[in-house]
Amino acid sequence: MRRAVTGYHQDDASDWVAELGCGHGQHVRHNPPFFLRPWVLTPEGRASMLGTELDCVRCDRLEMPDGLVAYKRTAEFDEGTIPGGLRKNHATKPGVWGVIHVVSGRLRYHIDGLGGREMRLDPGSPGIVVPEVLHHVDPDGPVRFFVEFHRKGG
Ligand SMILES: [Zn+2]
Repeated sequence: MRRAVTGYHQDDASDWVAELGCGHGQHVRHNPPFFLRPWVLTPEGRASMLGTELDCVRCDRLEMPDGLVAYKRTAEFDEGTIPGGLRKNHATKPGVWGVIHVVSGRLRYHIDGLGGREMRLDPGSPGIVVPEVLHHVDPDGPVRFFVEFHRKGG
């Protein structure tokens, strides 16, 4: 999905990496004749590209970025106490990832963004919640689960 550039850093090889709002990084090399991004070589050029959007395939693959810290978790819910808001489409804020941990039983996880997906979660398969992507859950029989939220540390 499309993600805004929020900053930059250089990797160990001094190649420029754009930092995206989701927490992922993406190389933005100027490597003629294959990759032509002369703007990345100057502070002015990089600043001019802040806020533009790049396609983030790692969000599409539900991969959590490195370097996130868990900062909050919900209470544990069961099939009778799931808040109505979780059963309707909702999304986390920019940069906020969630992990749906099923403690026992099974939960249906519907992702309405990213082209639409449906997954069955259980204690061995947590659900990854991608920032700003609409989703909701439904119980699939008896279930106990909680959601843990992660964002960039520091
Ligand atoms: Zn991403």
